[in-house]
Amino acid sequence: VLEELGIKYSILHLNEGHPAFALFERVRSFIEDEKMSLEEAIKKVKETSVFTTHTPLQAATDVYSFDMMSNYFRDYWQRLGLSKDQFFSFGINPDAPNAGFNMTVLGLKMCHQRNAVSKKHSEVTKEIWKDVFAMDDKENVPIEYVTNGVHIPTWLGDELTRTYDKVLGEQWQHLEDEEAVWSRVEEIEAEKIWNMHYTNKVRLVNFVRERVRQKWSNEGIDPLVAMAEGVMLDPDILTIGFARRMTSYKRPNLILHDLERLEKIVNNSDRPVQIIFTGKAHPSDNPGKKMIQNIFKVAQNPRFKGRIAFIEDYGEEVAKYLVRGVDVWLNNPEIPMEACGTSGMKASLNGTLHFSGLDGWWPEGYTGENGWKIGEETSDDTRDANAIYDTLENEIVPLFYRRGKESFPKAWAEKMKKAIMSISPHFSARRMMKDYLEMFYVPISKKIKE
Ligand SMILES: *Cc1c(COP(=O)(O)O)cnc(C)c1O
Repeated sequence: VLEELGIKYSILHLNEGHPAFALFERVRSFIEDEKMSLEEAIKKVKETSVFTTHTPLQAATDVYSFDMMSNYFRDYWQRLGLSKDQFFSFGINPDAPNAGFNMTVLGLKMCHQRNAVSKKHSEVTKEIWKDVFAMDDKENVPIEYVTNGVHIPTWLGDELTRTYDKVLGEQWQHLEDEEAVWSRVEEIEAEKIWNMHYTNKVRLVNFVRERVRQKWSNEGIDPLVAMAEGVMLDPDILTIGFARRMTSYKRPNLILHDLERLEKIVNNSDRPVQIIFTGKAHPSDNPGKKMIQNIFKVAQNPRFKGRIAFIEDYGEEVAKYLVRGVDVWLNNPEIPMEACGTSGMKASLNGTLHFSGLDGWWPEGYTGENGWKIGEETSDDTRDANAIYDTLENEIVPLFYRRGKESFPKAWAEKMKKAIMSISPHFSARRMMKDYLEMFYVPISKKIKE
């Protein structure tokens, strides 16, 4: 497409294995258009291509059968001057050589700049692909990491944006990867941080209730369904959000593990808790769909008094209301399956406190003061569910409802400030782009000019 548009590019950056055939096309173009030898073309492609992997599991990579590959590429490998075996060798996974042509292996072999998407994910990636580099020990496997980041202007609430314009200086959006800029959040009064958050919480609750109200009047939905979709939500109650793709490894049902214990937490008469779930399952992910059904069933159960809700149509709009409006962002994937995760970053920069297992970006982000951790280095459903209940009962709920002389939760708001200051500079898209520039694009450009 770029060629047809007449756009010349010097560096190719592949996001995951899906587009990796583009590497062969580059080889072909260097041979046919720039009259390079096969060896020169392959060397140049390796030197000037970047491969980012997002998957922490070999089974989740694209693999095509050799028959199918032969069908489509029979003429192509000849055109490149390769034998069939030479051509296939780029996609052979040493751990499963007969499985077919592996697109991630192609990316790893044909790009000499490679990265995972968090520090933790790079450890996992080195371990699962070390055989591609014929290494026994993962230490020297040449895969670096660039932790993902989020686009702050997109995800930050309006009140906070206006406040930062005043407090951080008008240029803050151009300096958003600098800790010193964010340290000025200290100057914002805790009460003001709380009030801005409370406004977003009211907006979230109104948004949810209004959607149910429309459904109620348009379709005449069952009252239990209206309850399960959030019509009874209350902005004064501690609110936990769980919003992400509904799939097994993210364990959406984990907090529902022990309903007796959860009921006591949710229905505590002085200090109640409500939980808002949202997310979609991939159309072919039946376990994922079952999890949504289960959550919806629990949400319809009157014993939870309408304090557990499942919202439909998770997408950018719903996500914006949630990351700004809930108090706690729950994330409990099966370790080490979450390569990075980004929704907790969107939450944290709005002061929504991250409550997460030590997977993906959280081992880099968690300071002990800017949110909470769940469980240990490995996952176990029962142990992790109990860890969630323990931390809720002993830390999160008491902190949220603690009132001193003030009429708002001051200690909570101070924690929100810590989250904003410590997380925003390091998990912004600007920091991420700078990493890619400094680690890959600029060094490659310099090499090309030599
Ligand atoms: C941020 C976001 C995601 C990704 O969130 P994870 O934490 O990586 O699961 C998915 N969907 C929407 C709508 C988002 O805004």
